[in-house]
Amino acid sequence: MKCPYCNYDESKVTDSRNCLEGAAIRRRRECLKCQKRFTTFETIDLTTQVKKRDGSYEEFQIDKLIRGLDAACRHTRISHDRVRALAAEIMAEVQERQEREITTLAIGELAMEKLKKLDTVAYIRFACVYRRFKDKDEIIHAMDGATQVRGE
Ligand SMILES: [Zn+2]
Repeated sequence: MKCPYCNYDESKVTDSRNCLEGAAIRRRRECLKCQKRFTTFETIDLTTQVKKRDGSYEEFQIDKLIRGLDAACRHTRISHDRVRALAAEIMAEVQERQEREITTLAIGELAMEKLKKLDTVAYIRFACVYRRFKDKDEIIHAMDGATQVRGE
């Protein structure tokens, strides 16, 4: 990203925020040479492919993620707006990894990390879908973990 003032090609990011529900990122940058500040508006590169359990690929679909999160958060204190913001956060994190592909499982892990801090019920529901717990003990173990996080 070249500085618009002196054309130097190195700058540091001083602030970064999601906009358009995570479909774009606005960054404040500071030129390492002339120290002038400028803003870049980056739209997300949709080339990150999501690798599904059956080995096939698809594009990252934020709507799908929102549906999954909504289902997990039904009848909890997490609002639909919060769900949308969560999905946007997850999408931005996936994009920031700048990898060519990510598995649905890895996306699920990101979502679980966030839900765990918000609501135990939503976390367990989501984890059951994504992780497909092998047995009851695993669910109980996960619940204990979630309760501890919330109790802190
Ligand atoms: Zn400069």
